[in-house]
Amino acid sequence: MIIIMKSGSPEAEIERIIEEVKQINLTPEKITGAQQVVIGLVGETATLELSRIEELSLWIQQVLRVGKPFKRASLEFRHGHHSEVLVSTPNEVVAFGKNHPVVVVAGPCSVENEEMIIGTAMQVKSAGAKFLRGGAYKPRTSPYAFQGHGESALELLAAAREASGLGIITEVMDTADVDKVAEVADVVQVGARNMQNFALLKKVGSQNKPVLLKRGMAATIDDWLMAAEYVLAAGNSNIILCERGIRTFDQKYTRNTLDLSSIPVLRSLTHLPIMIDPSHGTGKSDYVPSMAAAAIAAGTDSLMIEVHPNPAKALSDGPQSLTPEIFDRLMKELSVIGNTVGRWSQPKVVFAQ
Ligand code: PEP
Ligand code: MN
Repeated sequence: MIIIMKSGSPEAEIERIIEEVKQINLTPEKITGAQQVVIGLVGETATLELSRIEELSLWIQQVLRVGKPFKRASLEFRHGHHSEVLVSTPNEVVAFGKNHPVVVVAGPCSVENEEMIIGTAMQVKSAGAKFLRGGAYKPRTSPYAFQGHGESALELLAAAREASGLGIITEVMDTADVDKVAEVADVVQVGARNMQNFALLKKVGSQNKPVLLKRGMAATIDDWLMAAEYVLAAGNSNIILCERGIRTFDQKYTRNTLDLSSIPVLRSLTHLPIMIDPSHGTGKSDYVPSMAAAAIAAGTDSLMIEVHPNPAKALSDGPQSLTPEIFDRLMKELSVIGNTVGRWSQPKVVFAQ
């Protein structure tokens, strides 16, 4: 249920309503839009008469039910206001959202050693990426495959953050590691295989770093938004949704099927920012550029792209990784479509003295 306040409603009246709804065991969430304040209500609202809320104040314009099973994640809950996720990185605050430039996240699948992670960080930064990605804890299909360097890789990510000024996005797989990962990461990633690990969702929801929630490879959009709802319900509203390809009947030529239609679908269902990962989505470096361009054209808020200094020697996901040189060229190509849709940040022009 949501309460839409009339524009110009006095703050004291809004606070009074918030206190009143708490008395009837509802959890209010105040959303301040450009024109109006909306108060989202979570709790036992199914049997609650709309009039019971309407009569709380003459400043209430309308009370509406949220029809979706995902309440806080729904666009209805914010009465059509899309949210933005602001992330503090060493150099700047980066905004993810519909009204901001496309944010590019790049880096290797796994953190392999100091030289490669710092070197890659510097290269993706000069190409225009705002975040470095890299796994310390890797979810691998085979228990015999490289599992990531764990804690020591977190230290290398911290060093790369320091050296490059980029924000860090890295995955957490175990509830026991959340605090450790959140100490280094500017955004904590929950991977596709853990999208419905409810204990992990609750744990990342109860800490305050933003969460990147990847879509499970066999998850419907509703499953995915319900997973986001777990994080929201635990108290963390800074969530970015990342489409990374789903399983379909035809997996012969691509690793997954990148569901680019999820962009307009999500935009119509949820206020949360959207990321597209064409690297895991296709599994092949040759297919990454066209899917990245298409994602920007379709309205994505951000991209995640795997970049490795020597893909042929990568410890994981080499076939889908771009070299830093190809990534640099891709960024220049993407700037054309990014500028066309008005969502590319202008590179800083530095004049020689
Ligand atoms: C990754 O980002 O390296 C990763 C493992 O992704 P996903 O969870 O989408 O497979
Ligand atoms: Mn990977």
